[in-house]
Amino acid sequence: MTKHFRSLFCLVYLAVFLSPLNAQRLPEGAYHANRERSYDIIHYMAELSFDFDKKQVFGKATVTLTPLRKIESVTLAAILLNIKRVSMQDNDVKMQFRQSDNAVIITLPTRMTNQDTFSIVINYSCQPRAGMYFVRNPDNPKLFYISTYGEDGLHANWLPIYNDVNDKFSTEMKVTVPMPYVVISNGKLIQETQAENGEKTYHWKQTLPHPNYLISIYVGDFEKGELPPAFGTIPLNYWVPRGKLKEGAYAFRNTTRMLEYFSNRFYYKYPWIKYDQIAVPDYAVGAMEHTGVTGHRASILRTENSPFDFNPTLDHYTASWSAEAIISHELAHHWFGNTLTCRNLSYLWLNESFASYLMMLWDEESVSEDQLLFDVQLAKEQYFNYVRNQHIIRPLEYHNFDDANTIYNTEHTYLKGAVVLHMLRKILGDEPYFQALGYYLKKHEFSNVVSDDLKIAIEESTGENLYWFFEQW
Ligand SMILES: [Zn+2]
Repeated sequence: MTKHFRSLFCLVYLAVFLSPLNAQRLPEGAYHANRERSYDIIHYMAELSFDFDKKQVFGKATVTLTPLRKIESVTLAAILLNIKRVSMQDNDVKMQFRQSDNAVIITLPTRMTNQDTFSIVINYSCQPRAGMYFVRNPDNPKLFYISTYGEDGLHANWLPIYNDVNDKFSTEMKVTVPMPYVVISNGKLIQETQAENGEKTYHWKQTLPHPNYLISIYVGDFEKGELPPAFGTIPLNYWVPRGKLKEGAYAFRNTTRMLEYFSNRFYYKYPWIKYDQIAVPDYAVGAMEHTGVTGHRASILRTENSPFDFNPTLDHYTASWSAEAIISHELAHHWFGNTLTCRNLSYLWLNESFASYLMMLWDEESVSEDQLLFDVQLAKEQYFNYVRNQHIIRPLEYHNFDDANTIYNTEHTYLKGAVVLHMLRKILGDEPYFQALGYYLKKHEFSNVVSDDLKIAIEESTGENLYWFFEQW
């Protein structure tokens, strides 16, 4: 080959083989819109008991709702639930229903309108395949731990419920267990009663509205430790497997300070009635920010003598999140995720990018500003590596996906999002930035948000129109 041909060959080679390798692409999938619904749940109560050995749940759900338009039936998500009876709470009149694998469709006795509010009672049993997990107690195999994890609609495996994020309601759990189990759930423990056979019923009630996926119960032979109340009034507890109080006290020791710091930083006080943290052996995920009752893996427990775990590496920032980082991330969701919730998963960055940036803010507060900058740098590195190697790049708000994992992608939703929020802070300046986020929290508290709500809140609070900034990211 002549030199000329060699150059031409090289050019063709580059064009054909190398360009596609360097090209970036968007994830593909069906457009993801807010789920449509025909009613608004006002209050949800579940009464539960268990056959632990069969991993079986016996439930009675009372769903209080108001139609959003004229309706003749109510459809609730119900994945493989064995529904025995459905009735109106008022008069106990049985109602007709039919079931598919994933839903129950209940026929109303008369057409209902948005002027009506009524309660439907559903008696059922189930052996949940997901959403609720029975794990044998490693220290006493006769006993179990029960924990729950409800993202992506999983709670419909043990509750007949509306299982998307765009409906918020108050909730109540009445759970009956034999000794020595205790039950922890959202909100306040309003009653604890003991029957003659020794069984105890724990009645927890959360009055502020939250979406279905943040409902939770934990059952086990837990011991409870107390942290100093935040602002002297908000109780903080941790619940650990029997014999692990010392490890709990050490692992969770900074939570009160953290809660007060986030409250002050965002000019928005932690709104929930209490904050419990539960350490469960073999918890289904790393940790989960159920409202006021975060679930952690028991591996988070540690003592002063445990190996130092604050050690992010240059090539993989998220591989090494410390116990402290996980604790701050889940607590951070109680502002961004629980008080404000993305309206559908396309806007998940409004939950997860914020919680990831608040982890870095806690590093800034508890370690140093340099630590924050180091975190930002590491997050950036990991994100760039991902884009370089996977050739996938997308905006933070993104609607086209079939698999929820596409939108839960760590590098985009957690890391890039956190870095973008840091850039935004640098553009606005500290005080306008934190005040704008406080304004955004107050304006949309206990409701669902989309990216435009954030942009408009910043504009209303600071006077600056940052559409150009959000267009880029
Ligand atoms: Zn999170």
